[in-house]
This record gives sequence, structure tokens and C-alpha cells, in this order.
Amino acid sequence: MKHIVILGAGTAGTIMANRLTRLLTREVRSGALDITIVDRDDQHLYQPGLLFIPFGIYERRDIVRSRHATLPHHVRLLYGEIDRVDTQGSAVVLTDGRALGYDVLIVATGARTLPGETAGLTGHGWYENAFDFFSLEGAEALRTRLDAFPGGRLVVNVMDMPIKCPVAPLEFAFLADWFFTKKGMRDKVQLTYATPLDAAFTRPVAAARLAHLLAEKDIELVTEFNVGSVDGTAQRMRGWDDRELAYDLLVTVPLHGGASFVGRSQAMGDDFDFVRTHKYTLQALAAENIFAIGDATDLPTSKAGSVAHFESEVLAPNIARFLHGVPLAHDFDGHANCFVETGHDKALLIDFNYDTEPLPGDFPFAGSPLPLLEESRLAHQAKRALRWVYWNLLLPGHAVPGLSPQLSMAGKHAAPVETHTFPDPRAPQTKRGGAVK
Ligand SMILES: Cc1cc2nc3c(=O)[nH]c(=O)nc-3n(C[C@H](O)[C@H](O)[C@H](O)COP(=O)(O)OP(=O)(O)OC[C@H]3O[C@@H](n4cnc5c(N)ncnc54)[C@H](O)[C@@H]3O)c2cc1C
Repeated sequence: MKHIVILGAGTAGTIMANRLTRLLTREVRSGALDITIVDRDDQHLYQPGLLFIPFGIYERRDIVRSRHATLPHHVRLLYGEIDRVDTQGSAVVLTDGRALGYDVLIVATGARTLPGETAGLTGHGWYENAFDFFSLEGAEALRTRLDAFPGGRLVVNVMDMPIKCPVAPLEFAFLADWFFTKKGMRDKVQLTYATPLDAAFTRPVAAARLAHLLAEKDIELVTEFNVGSVDGTAQRMRGWDDRELAYDLLVTVPLHGGASFVGRSQAMGDDFDFVRTHKYTLQALAAENIFAIGDATDLPTSKAGSVAHFESEVLAPNIARFLHGVPLAHDFDGHANCFVETGHDKALLIDFNYDTEPLPGDFPFAGSPLPLLEESRLAHQAKRALRWVYWNLLLPGHAVPGLSPQLSMAGKHAAPVETHTFPDPRAPQTKRGGAVK
């Protein structure tokens, strides 16, 4: 019997468990193959919903489900904390001492936030006037604070790249503009968006469009702001270049890293515990029977659920090829597809990959009513429908109509401004020097 072990039952791990069970159904049903998935608890969080919690649009019950409900019967769900992987001995060790041997390992343990890594951030004022919204506790605490905010300077800040869903903090700033306008107190709130990047976003055409939207909504853009420390008592952030930013309310996206066990597993991780992964096949560089997917990888594309979905369409057949001794397909192109909520019932869609930046046009083909890089109500409706799509199509590992795993150029227009190429997508652009897609 062959054993597949999946580490992490979040977005990517769950999609893989569902896809593999269907793709290898004969082996699974005959008992020739078993699939085990490991996670620390039974709480599956729909993370894109965290954006809406602070604004009172979603509640906890709208975005949390039991992991059991998302997994097929044939897959064994094991609770435990992963301690390390013996990459040469093909075994996973849990912190309680249990060991799991595998023929194929899939690492899908995502990215975690590290607020404690920024000096002063989690000291005085943390969860009083400084919050994150990338955790359920942070998003819920922020909701109470936003409701009672009397006005003043609200700074939305990204500590450094890479982060999950790089557009989420921009969406937060746009929604804050909408939220305070609706409350009739927008004139009492100064909104600032502070980023370590040299523009509003990582890719030039989208960056120009998003900077324009920030200006239109009177949200100040502060670029190349690399935070060295936070003084929660004085309510100030200090940059490595000694610039200071004062705030009455800070909404920050903390530093990110991969799961800490990755760093304890021989040859598996980079400096930030992301799994070193082959860009096109999703095979880990540490050993040929290890693969990685989702936010856990070091790939130079967005850390997004849409990316995990596209990766799974390449990775599931590649696992089958590996088990059957067939060469792997080099099919993953870095495809990402994200709806950016811009407030006032509008959103805009970006669609890109390793080599092609988000371009204007129509999606998924010329003449379609969904524009790219332009605000529309249809995009907003699609963003809000994403929760249903997530539980009912993405997690069960079904194809989504109109979305192919590889980027399609249908409907896209050439960039209206000079396009930049990214010959080395790992080239450092921020202080940490991580991938900045
Ligand atoms: C605020 C916000 C908004 C977002 N919006 C969007 C969006 O609009 N569109 C989009 O496509 N994406 C969005 N994303 C990103 C998306 O949610 C993630 O990219 C996606 O969930 C990644 O899936 P994953 O399986 O790689 O990681 P996760 O879903 O985080 O799963 C990792 C799992 O591994 C488990 N794990 C980790 N370490 C261990 C360990 N040591 N032992 C046991 N278990 C462990 C965790 O418990 C977790 O269940 C957003 C994210 C955030 C935070």
C-alpha cells in the first residue's frame, strides 16, 4: 500500500485531498492507496472573509466550518502539531512523538503572521489602538474599535513582503473610506496607506490604477516605508530611514513566515521557512517525493486561494504521474486571479501570472461584461459570491467555469504604459528581500 500524507487542512490541503481522492479513486477504493491529512484543529477558516469582519459585514459563523465537513470520507484527518519532517527518511514527526511514514508528502501548511517580530508592535496598545485583521481575534477586536472610533489618523500598513493576498490591505483602506462615509464622518478621518514597496502594488500597471483610486478617495499613499519599530505609547511607527508615522488607529499586516517546522526539516525551507519549490512542477527541492502548494511555497506569485486552486489543477495530476513513474508536467505558470474590493459596492479584477502583469481588458474574453483593472458592480458581486464558490466549488476541488489553470490572454489589452519585465522574480525589492508579488 502507498501512503500520501498532506500537511495542513486549509485551502490548499483540502483541495488536494478532494482532487486526489477523485483522480486516484480506483487505488483509494481498492485499498492500494491511503491519504492522511494533518492539522492542529477542526476549524477551517475562510480567510478572505476576515476582510469583512471589522466592517460588520460578516460574523465569525459566516467564515468558520468544521474541517470534517470539507473532506472526503476516504481521507483520514489526524489532529496534531507538526514538529518536523525527516526528508531523507520520508517520515513526519508530530510534537507528541507520533511518526507518519509516507511515499508522497504534500506540504500545505500556509503562511503565518509574526507580529512579535516587529519591535514594539505587540507591546503597549496592541489590540487597543493597533490591530491586525489577518487573524480572527484581530479582525473581531478591530470591529469593536472601528465602531467606536471617534475620528483621527487611521494608518493601514504593510510591514514587509511577502504577505497573504497582497491586495487585502488596500481593500481594507478602500472599505474604511466607504465605512466612514456611510457613517457620515469621513471628514473626521485621515486615511493613510503605508507600504514598503515603491508603489501601491507590486506590478506597474495595476500599481498606477490603484494609486489613482487611493488619490480619488483621498487616501494618502506613503511608499518605501520600512518599519523598524512601533512605539505604542506615543502611537508612532518609526522607519529604518528614521521617518515617523503617527497614528490614532493602526491597522497593520505583520511580517509573514512559513510554518516553523519547515525550518527544522532538512533542506526544506528558505530563510523565512517557506518551502523551496520548483516553479513549474511544484516538487519541493528537498526531495523528489515531497511537493508543496499554496502559501507554504517560496514561489514568486501571490499567496492567494485562487493560486492554490490553479496549482492543484497541476499538482494532482503530477502526484499521479509521480506514483506511476511518469515524468512530471511543467504546467504551473504562476496564475493568480483576485477581486479587489474598492468600496461603495464596487470591486476590480486582476488576472496575472509569473510573466504577465495584470492588464486592462475584459474577462474571461473580449466583450465580456466583467472588466479587468476597472471598478464595476459585477466584480463586487463576484467578490461577495466568492464565499459560496469557496465552500462549494474550490474546496471540493471542482473546476470553476471561465477559470483555466493557465493564464489566458483572451480579452486582455497590451499595457497602456511601459511594461516592466521581471527577469528575476526573487530579486529583493524590500528590506527582507522576499518575493513581492
Ligand atoms: C484577510 C485575507 C484576505 C484574503 N483574501 C483573498 C482573496 O480575496 N482571494 C484569494 O484568492 N485569497 C485571499 N486570501 C488568501 C487565502 O486565504 C490564502 O492564500 C489561502 O488560504 C492559502 O491556503 P493554504 O492552504 O496555503 O494555507 P491555509 O489555508 O492557511 O492552511 C494552512 C493550514 O496548515 C495548518 N498548519 C500550519 N502549521 C501547522 C503545524 N505545525 N501543525 C499542524 N497544522 C499546521 C493550519 O492550521 C492551516 O489549517 C486572503 C487572506 C487573508 C488573510
